[in-house]
Amino acid sequence: HPIRTGKPPWLRRKLPSGPDYEKIRSMIDKGQLHTVCQEANCPNQFECFSAHTATFLIMGATCTRNCRFCNIDGGRPGPLDPDEPRRVAGAAARMELRYVVVTSVTRDDLDDGGASHFAATIAALQEQIEGVQIEVLIPDFQGSRNALETVLAARPEVLNHNMETVRRLYDTVRPQADYDRSLELLARVPRIAPHIPAKSGIMLGLGETEAEVRQVIRDVRRTGCRMLTIGQYLQPTAEHLPVVAFIPPEDFDRWRQFALAEGFAKVAAGPFVRSSYHAGSMFRGE
Ligand code: SF4
Ligand code: SF4
Repeated sequence: HPIRTGKPPWLRRKLPSGPDYEKIRSMIDKGQLHTVCQEANCPNQFECFSAHTATFLIMGATCTRNCRFCNIDGGRPGPLDPDEPRRVAGAAARMELRYVVVTSVTRDDLDDGGASHFAATIAALQEQIEGVQIEVLIPDFQGSRNALETVLAARPEVLNHNMETVRRLYDTVRPQADYDRSLELLARVPRIAPHIPAKSGIMLGLGETEAEVRQVIRDVRRTGCRMLTIGQYLQPTAEHLPVVAFIPPEDFDRWRQFALAEGFAKVAAGPFVRSSYHAGSMFRGE
């Protein structure tokens, strides 16, 4: 049964510290780069960095949208930095990353939503790190098929786009997004690039019902999407949506089984799961 106040014991975890962590952090700082790992104070940093994975946030730290679960500032972003792809690739190489997740704020202010900047970042990584595997976690590009094609043409290993929540909660959770537009994006991936697996993710604990969770899992699966992450929503600040329920680990196990039975090839589900959690091993099927 949901616990409504305070964090349940399974969510208490120490934040990273220590010399290795500091070393990696200084590399990120030096390149004046943003990682989701650090900006979101992700509890998995140690695990991910030691598994040679990290998530870079490109195109600035100001978003043209204002999702109620997200701690990134909304507003008017600055111009793109054409040198950023090279710097991301340089930092990733110094960090000895082998599986790099690249994500961005939503840039509704740009003609292509930043798709070509994504493509340039993928290209720079492929050039600087031999054998690198890249997962892109993309915004909806306002439904632009051209933008999606641009990103897929750069040949990332995985194309990730999060549904985030169930249909009914879109208006409160991500008001500038559109449930069907996000599903359509996922459905286009196998049509445009059948060899690139699509991946999506949802958060639980925002007040969704079990029937609604089953529906979003089925809707995503019907697009042909093969990989799914299911995690716990945590309120980043008091200004953000409150947590309605802390989902116990055994319920996550049940959702994982459900999603696998629906036909997903790979599912990560659990209180600490983020869309980039164990992304490398998830892709490789370890
Ligand atoms: Fe970074 Fe994602 Fe790992 Fe968190 S789960 S440390 S955001 S790669
Ligand atoms: Fe955060 Fe993405 Fe929403 Fe922007 S679009 S506010 S980065 S979740």
